[in-house]
Amino acid sequence: MLHKKHQDKLEELISPTYGSEFTSANLPKFKMPEEDMPARDAYRMVHDELMLDGNSRQNLATFCTTFVEPEVQQLMTECIDKNMIDKDEYPQTAEIENRCVHILADLWNSPESETTLGCSTTGSSEAAMLGGMALKWKWREKMKAAGKPTDKPNMICGPVQICWHKFARYWDIEIREIPMEGDRLIMTPEEVIKRCDENTIGVVPTLGVTFTGQYEPVKAVSDALDTFEKDTGIDIPIHVDGASGAFIAPFIQPDLEWDFRLPRVKSINASGHKFGLAPLGVGWALWRCKDCLPEDLIFNVNYLGGNMPTFALNFSRPGGEIVAQYYNFLRLGKKGYAEIHSAGRDVAMHLADEIGKMDPFEIIYNGDGGILALCWKLKEGMEYNFTLYDLADRLRSRGWLVPAYSMPAHREDLVIQRILVRHGMSMDLAELLLEDIRRALDHFDVHPVQVPLSEEEAGGFKH
Ligand SMILES: *Cc1c(COP(=O)(O)O)cnc(C)c1O
Repeated sequence: MLHKKHQDKLEELISPTYGSEFTSANLPKFKMPEEDMPARDAYRMVHDELMLDGNSRQNLATFCTTFVEPEVQQLMTECIDKNMIDKDEYPQTAEIENRCVHILADLWNSPESETTLGCSTTGSSEAAMLGGMALKWKWREKMKAAGKPTDKPNMICGPVQICWHKFARYWDIEIREIPMEGDRLIMTPEEVIKRCDENTIGVVPTLGVTFTGQYEPVKAVSDALDTFEKDTGIDIPIHVDGASGAFIAPFIQPDLEWDFRLPRVKSINASGHKFGLAPLGVGWALWRCKDCLPEDLIFNVNYLGGNMPTFALNFSRPGGEIVAQYYNFLRLGKKGYAEIHSAGRDVAMHLADEIGKMDPFEIIYNGDGGILALCWKLKEGMEYNFTLYDLADRLRSRGWLVPAYSMPAHREDLVIQRILVRHGMSMDLAELLLEDIRRALDHFDVHPVQVPLSEEEAGGFKH
C-alpha cells in the first residue's frame, strides 16, 4: 500500500496534462496564488499563453535578432547564472567583453584599437545615453575652462530614434532635430551647420535612420564641421548612432568613411542584438581615445572583490549575450558577416524591385547603400480603395508584420511602409511574402476597404 501522500504524487504525475485541476482553471492575473502547483502544469500554461505572441521570424518591423544557431542557445543556457557586472567572480566573461570591445574598435578603425575604451550595454539606448553624457561632460569642462555659462547645452541630429529624445529630456539638453523637408528625409551638412553654436555638445548622425533605413552622411557632416571650426574656432564633436549600420558598413560597405577614420568622430554606439546577430540584450559604446571619456563618469566598485571600474546605467545583467556576441565574431569572422549581410541586401533589393513593379507603390529606399531594409509609399496622384494601414492589417492575417507609419516633423503627411531584412529571411520566404502582398491587392480590388480616397487622403489617414 502506498502512503496517501505518495499516492497523490503519483496521481499528479500520471494525470493527463490537460486533465489536471491546474490546467482546468483560469490563471490568476492580479493576485499571487496561495498554493504551489506542479512545474509541468505551470510550464504548460505559461508556454501556451505565449502561443498568442506573433511568430518573430515573420516580424518584419523589428531590427532585432530573431534567428540564432543552436550553439548560441546552448551558450546562453550555460551563462544563465553569470552576472556580467561581477568581474571578479566571472573574470573570463569580463575578458570576453574586453575582447569584443577591442575587436569592434579595430573594425571601426580606431587609431589605438588595443587601448580604446568601451563597454557593453543592454542595447543602443543605454549606449546612446553613455555617449551623450560623455559629450555633455566634455562640453561642460571646455565651457568652464573658458569661464562661460553651462546652462544651455544643445545637440543636433536628424530624425532620430526615440532614445535621443529620452537622452535630451533626461539630461536637460535642447534637441535640435533637423526636420524632414520634401524628399529630404535625413540630415545634410548645410542643415547641421545652420544649427551649430558654442553650446552644441555634439552632432549625432545616424547610420541607418529608423524611419527609412538610409545612412546619414557622416563624412560630409564632419567636413562641414571642420570648415565651421576654421571659421568660428568652435570645435564640435560627432557621436555616430550606428545602432544598425555599425554592424553592416564594415562588412559590405568598407569604403564608406563613417567611423574613427574621421578624427571628429569621438564615440559610436551599436546594437549587438541587431545586425551584430547576438541574441536580445546587448549593445556597445566605444570612445575613440581615453581622453574622449571623462574620468568622473567612471565609478570604481570594490564590494564584489577586486577594484572594478564601471560606466553604465545598469548594474546586474546577464553575461550570455556578451558571450554569444563573441561566439558570433569567432564563428562568422568578417567573411561570414559579409556573406550574411550581402544575402540580406540581395533579398531587400529583390523585394524592392518586385514591390516597385506593383501599380500602387513607389519605392523610397531600395536596400542599396544603407541598412538591409526597404520602404515605400503609395504613388501620388492616384485613387486607392485601401491605405497602407489596411495592407498591414491584411498581411497580418498571414502572420507577416509589415508596419505602416507616418513620418516625423515636417512630413507627418507622408505614410510609408517598411520591411527589415534580417538574418533568416531567405529568398524563398521573400517570394512567399510577395505572393501575399499581391493577393492582398487582389482582395482589395474585389472587397474595397473604403470608398476610393485620393492619395492625399489615404496618406493622411491615421489609426
Ligand atoms: C534600435 C535603435 C536604437 C535603440 O537601440 P536598442 O538596441 O533597441 O536600445 C537607437 N538608434 C537607432 C538608430 C536604432 O535603430
